[in-house]
Amino acid sequence: MNMTDIKSMNIEELSSLMTQLGDKPFRAKQVYSWLHEHLVTSYDEMTNLPKALREKLSAYPITALQVADVQVSKLDGTRKYLFCLSDGNVIESVLMRYKHGNSVCISSQVGCRMGCRFCASTIGGLTRNLMASEMLDQIYRIQDITGERVSNVVVMGTGEPLDNYDNLLRFIHILSAEGGLHISQRNITVSTCGLVPQIHELAKEKLQITLALSLHAPNDAKRQELMPIARRYSMDEVLDACRDYFDKTGRRITFEYSLVAGVNDSDEDAAELCGRIRGMNCHVNLIPVNPIKERSFVRSTREAVENFKIKLEKCGINGTIRREMGSDIDGACGQLRKSYMQKTESEK
Ligand code: SAH
Repeated sequence: MNMTDIKSMNIEELSSLMTQLGDKPFRAKQVYSWLHEHLVTSYDEMTNLPKALREKLSAYPITALQVADVQVSKLDGTRKYLFCLSDGNVIESVLMRYKHGNSVCISSQVGCRMGCRFCASTIGGLTRNLMASEMLDQIYRIQDITGERVSNVVVMGTGEPLDNYDNLLRFIHILSAEGGLHISQRNITVSTCGLVPQIHELAKEKLQITLALSLHAPNDAKRQELMPIARRYSMDEVLDACRDYFDKTGRRITFEYSLVAGVNDSDEDAAELCGRIRGMNCHVNLIPVNPIKERSFVRSTREAVENFKIKLEKCGINGTIRREMGSDIDGACGQLRKSYMQKTESEK
């Protein structure tokens, strides 16, 4: 980690920084609270700190994202934020308002190198990992701008979170710790395309977060067509890693299954999927695929989606059809960022 990135430091690291700066450790608690509870973006706002300390701290810049664009859905109030990072890269985050509270979907990387065929976020490849502070600040800025408490966080935006493992763990600990936003780990979901060694590592951490696994296919051959990562890890290995996660944490796994017409949405696909995951403590989230213009995938019909769900339920597997949010604003994940980058590119 970047040793001057103060917003990525946990309370222990901040305490040793205070000692290093010749100040009292209790100041760490004050600074931490300003950063992670009051969400301030400058040392000037930390009014209970002595001026001398604020001056010393100016060598530790506070990571804060700048809003580059916001789109608001007229249908359901969903907001998509495009944020500019200090190096000029842009990322997107989404605020969804539900009856049970506000949920923010964050990005974990600038771009992605996993190459899933239907996904817009991966088309330009990976630019870089996000620091823990940059993941946190997506939530902080949205809470600050709206003045509404964020109660749920899903790491389902651009990027593969388990490909940025250390920063992800740091992010989860700071987000759920007392003295910060203190969001319960049970209200945090991390979605992965299935990096098997990292899932086993994560299981050992015994966190209470929900693991969402992007399955999208009932067998290896079909999964490999959609997701290059499936050539590295077989479905058996992925499902074993999920069982390990459940055994160690007691947390039910969510499988994500994006339905593509004529590719993975038939009765046979549903039956095969049931055979693979029956008996696991799991839940299947069915997502009618969001077509992107770079690819020719077609969304399954409403009827095919409903039918798929019924087939799963007949095998005793719980399924929900993901309610589409903000469908009137730049569609699938990564599309707002892509259209912004194309726009700025053409203005050059
Ligand atoms: N890299 C992680 C998280 C980011 S994507 C992962 O793969 O899980 C979040 C979810 O959206 C994943 O299940 C992903 O496969 C799915 N997804 C991406 N693009 C999509 C699209 N165009 N339509 C439907 N689902 C999509």
